[in-house]
Amino acid sequence: MRRSHSTSLFGLCGLCCFMVTFPQSGFAQAEWSADDTRRIVDNVSELRLDPDLSHLSPGERTVVANLLQAGQIFQELYEDQNHPDAIWARAAVRPGTDEAILYRLYQGPIGTNGSNQRVPFLSVRPVRPGRNVYPDDIRPPELEAYLAAHPAERGELLDVRAVVRRATEANLLTDLATLEANRWLRVLHPDFATRVAALRDRPSSDAFYAAPYAVAYVGRLLRIRALLREAADAVAAEDRDLAAYLRLRGDDLLTSNYEAGDAAWVSGQFANINAQIGSYETYDDALYGVKAFYSLSLLARDRARSDELAAALTDIQAIENSLPYSRPKTVRSQIPVGVYNVVADFGQARGTNTATILPNDADHARKYGRTILLRYNIMTAPELFEGARSRFCAAVAESHCSELSMAGNFERTLWHEIGHYLGVDRTDDGRALDDALASVSNLYEEMKADLVSLFSADRLHREGHYTDRELREFYAGGILRVLQAGPPRRDQPYQTMQLMQWNWYLDRELLTLENGRLRIHYDRYPDAVESLLREVLAIQASGDPARAEAFIDEWTAWDPAAHGVVADAIRGAAGGGRIWLVRYGALDE
Ligand SMILES: [Zn+2]
Repeated sequence: MRRSHSTSLFGLCGLCCFMVTFPQSGFAQAEWSADDTRRIVDNVSELRLDPDLSHLSPGERTVVANLLQAGQIFQELYEDQNHPDAIWARAAVRPGTDEAILYRLYQGPIGTNGSNQRVPFLSVRPVRPGRNVYPDDIRPPELEAYLAAHPAERGELLDVRAVVRRATEANLLTDLATLEANRWLRVLHPDFATRVAALRDRPSSDAFYAAPYAVAYVGRLLRIRALLREAADAVAAEDRDLAAYLRLRGDDLLTSNYEAGDAAWVSGQFANINAQIGSYETYDDALYGVKAFYSLSLLARDRARSDELAAALTDIQAIENSLPYSRPKTVRSQIPVGVYNVVADFGQARGTNTATILPNDADHARKYGRTILLRYNIMTAPELFEGARSRFCAAVAESHCSELSMAGNFERTLWHEIGHYLGVDRTDDGRALDDALASVSNLYEEMKADLVSLFSADRLHREGHYTDRELREFYAGGILRVLQAGPPRRDQPYQTMQLMQWNWYLDRELLTLENGRLRIHYDRYPDAVESLLREVLAIQASGDPARAEAFIDEWTAWDPAAHGVVADAIRGAAGGGRIWLVRYGALDE
C-alpha cells in the first residue's frame, strides 16, 4: 500500500546516519562494549545546519516556532515507537556524556556494535524486531499463525498507523479508558471501539487487536494538532495553501488517515516554508515493514533554485515509455519538486538524508502525485562531500578519482527521486507492490529508483542535456552509491540492494577489480543498468515474493578476497569511518 523513501548522500543509506558497517569477524559479538563506544564516539563529527530565515514573514516565523515545538513531541514519539524503554532511558542519560552522544546518534538506547548487530548500549531490554509497535514478546511465527487463522483481521493488524496489542485485560482496560476520556475517538474510530468492547468480555493473550495511532498516542497528537492549528491561523493571510495543509494534517493525526493532508501538501503552492509532518516511513518496522514511524522535517524553500529546477525538468513521459517493461503508464509532466534548506529534522527524518519523496500511499500518489524535497544544504555540505570523495578514491583506480562531483550527485539524486514516479507501481494482476512483495518491497523500490536514475542519464546525455563530462560524473556517483564498507545485513534494504548492483556490475564487467582497486568501464554502463532494471521491473510486475527473495540470494554474495579488499580500503580512507551527527541552529544547538 505504501512505498517509501529517502535517500542519502553518496552511497550510504538514509537510515544509518552515515554509519559505516563493519564486517563480521570471528564469533558474533552479542553485546555493546567499551570499544564500541570509543569506535563510535571518537569518529563522530558534527554537521550544523542553520539556514538563513531572515526573509520570513511574522506569520511564517510563528509556523517555524510551532513546528519546532511539534517536532520535539514527534521526536519523543519516534523514540517511544522504537523502544519501550526509550523515554525513561533518555531521561537517565546525563548531558555531555558518551551515552548522550550515542543516544542522540541512534535516537534511542540501541546501537550498532562492531559486529553490525543492533544491541543496547544502556541498561534496557534487548531490541525487538517489532520495536514498540507490536507486543514486546511477539515472535513472527505467532503473529503469522494468528493472521493465517484470522485473515479478516489482517488489514487492520498490518495497518500502517496502528499499534498491534495482545487482547489482555490490562491492554483492553487502558484503551477503554482512553475512549472514555476522549469520546470523539469513538466517532472517528467506531470499528476499534466496537472491537475493544467485544474483546472486553473475553480477553485472551493469544488474540490480537490493532489500536490506531490516534488512540495509542492521543495526548501527544492532540498537543501537536493544537500547535499546527495555531500556526495555520498565524500564516493564513499570507500563505493560505500552507495554512490549509497544516489544518488538514492536524486532523489527519487524529483520524490516522492522511489523504486530506497529503492532497493539500502535494498540490499546495507554498511560499517559503514546507514541512513533512507525521508518520510515513516504515523502515524501522523490522517485523513486517508496514508500520510508519513519526517524523517532522522543517524546510525553508530556496525559491530561485526551485524555479530553475522546475523549468529545467523535461517531459518525463518519454523516459517512462523507454523503460524496459511492457506496460508503461501515463505520468504527470509537472511534478512537484523543490529545493530546500533543512531547518530541523525530528524522529525518523533526522540525519543526513539528501532527498525525500512522499507520500508513499499508492492511491494518494496516483491521485495527487508525490512531492520531491531536495535537501540542498545537506546535498552540498562540503564536509559530507569530502568524506564521500575520500571513500570513492580509496575504492577505485586512481584515474577515476576526479570523476566524482557534487553536481553529478545532485543530478543522480534528483533522478532517483523522479525514478520513484516511473516504472512498475502495481503487479500485473493489480496488487499493490508492498502487499505483494512485503518485506522486500522497499528494497526493490529503491533499486528501481537507482536504476531508473542511471538509465535516464544515458538518454538525457543523448538528448544534449548533459555533456560527456557531466554524464561521467553522474555515473561515478552511481558507482560510489553501490560500494559497501562491509557485508550488509538482510534487514538493511539500501545496503543490500546496493551490494546487488555492485555484484551485477562486476558480472557485466562494468566494474573490474585490478590490484585491489575497481576500474570503471563506462561504455558498459547502459547495458549493465538496463539489464538489471529489466529484472527488477519484471520481479515487481510479477509480485512474486519467492522470486524476489531468490534474486536477492543470487546477487548478495560477499567475497572477502574481492568485496572485502575494497571494503577495507573504504574503511581505511581518510574520514571514511566518520559518523555525522547533525545539529540545528534553529534549536540553539
Ligand atoms: Zn528512494
